[in-house]
Amino acid sequence: MQITESKSPKILLVEDETILAEGIIFNLKKQGYSVDWVKDGRAALENAFNNPYDLILLDIMLPYIDGFEVARRVREKFPAMPILMLTARTAVKDRVKGLEIGADDYLTKPFHLEELLARIKAMLRRSEWYRHAQPTIDKYRFGDNEINFRDFSCQSGRKSFHLTQKEAMLMKYLISRKNQIVSRRELLENVWNISAEIETRTVDIFIARLRKYFEPDPKKPVYLKSIRSAGYMFTENG
Ligand code: CA
Repeated sequence: MQITESKSPKILLVEDETILAEGIIFNLKKQGYSVDWVKDGRAALENAFNNPYDLILLDIMLPYIDGFEVARRVREKFPAMPILMLTARTAVKDRVKGLEIGADDYLTKPFHLEELLARIKAMLRRSEWYRHAQPTIDKYRFGDNEINFRDFSCQSGRKSFHLTQKEAMLMKYLISRKNQIVSRRELLENVWNISAEIETRTVDIFIARLRKYFEPDPKKPVYLKSIRSAGYMFTENG
């Protein structure tokens, strides 16, 4: 893998296991990334708020403040920050909670370093279609909702909020395929840049997040519909 950007991406690694962290740092640096390493949640927030990072690699079980709380607070301040969570293999609940709070993706420990590097690369690269698909769409309206794809700001009725980068990419992808069925696999490949090894549940949790923002009744979606055993479909007329 080669980093072709002129400036090397800067990653904040939050991990309290020294041996694991040193292995990760060694490999990230070998790929040309610059890395800051902190070992607890307090230092993570202090660093994240005061430095321009391109991505945060975040362990969950941490001293002082756990990874969930770190993710939540970072999200409040930097809605678009890519966050990759590192979770214990057995803790399915943790993965779901991490994604619900606002992580973009997760990796379960123990993981192969190549897998970690592939995920990081995928997260740092906004996919081709996102940059080139329908460049005229900066703002999109449907029902009571408006999305600004430049800064990820949204309006739903009287509510104002920001989408995360992944949420915006997912929404834009569904809109670009409106009235067509899109499979979870297609979404994983194009929005996450991942060849569907990752659990399809990730897609479902992101759709649930989007429904909470945009659906009048998230339990009875009219815009973001589930198509049984096939995937999802966006329709703008509700
Ligand atoms: Ca830990």
